[in-house]
Amino acid sequence: MLRIEDLWKSYGNEEVLRGVSLEVDRGDVEVLVGPSGSGKSTLLRCLNRLTEVDSGHVYLGETEVTGPDTDPNAIRQQIGMVFQDINLFTHLTARQNITLGLRKVRGQSKAEARRRADSELDRVGLLAQAGSYPAQLSGGQKQRVGIARALAMDPEVMLFDEPTSALDPELSNEVLEVMSQLVAEGMTMVVVTHEMRFARGGATGITFLDEGKVIEHGPPDQIFDDPERERTARFFQSIR
Ligand code: ATP
Ligand code: MG
Repeated sequence: MLRIEDLWKSYGNEEVLRGVSLEVDRGDVEVLVGPSGSGKSTLLRCLNRLTEVDSGHVYLGETEVTGPDTDPNAIRQQIGMVFQDINLFTHLTARQNITLGLRKVRGQSKAEARRRADSELDRVGLLAQAGSYPAQLSGGQKQRVGIARALAMDPEVMLFDEPTSALDPELSNEVLEVMSQLVAEGMTMVVVTHEMRFARGGATGITFLDEGKVIEHGPPDQIFDDPERERTARFFQSIR
């Protein structure tokens, strides 16, 4: 469903992605791991055109995401993304942060958008906070509003870039629970995370990235317990 073919990306003289290929099927939960600077965030950003690749292709089904005639805004609805620091509009309530896109992009009526926003807020356990402003929400709650906002667009794939790394453990768990619920619902996801418990429990595949290359890819048990490459083994020893 999501096909990544031979992506290359440089910033100046630094080659950040060096021929990354990966395939994600419908319902897969692919977890990307690798050292800082290995290109994980860059790869995710290339998947929804927040970053333009130098060469290579990304396909979502039949659509070439990286195609010159493809509208990045249309892609960003189909491929939702949640970052470490979610940027909610501070002058809007949780509900309004979600209805905004539904009204402007989807052309929904006020009532329709409100119904959908509330149903997504309910899905992430935040219906009671619908009228709260971001400043009144905890970090974990803000992340869940961000997830609800992406889900309201009916994405085919959700990308997560370290969604819990700025949160303390308790708040992380709230967010991880919502992500696990999405896994159970069969959502296709690509997730960068250091939460190895989530990776073991929820991932269908682990991709280990180093210096802009896929070093190894396989099911969690294999990658964690019996990696083929010495570099992979060393990485997991270092984070244990
Ligand atoms: P981390 O685990 O620290 O988040 P990462 O694997 O996500 O790391 P990237 O953020 O993709 O790594 O960065 C890969 C490399 O590309 C780094 O050396 C980074 O400095 C560089 N880089 C990323 N974005 C840019 C940019 N917009 N301009 C210049 N260099 C960049
Ligand atoms: Mg990163």
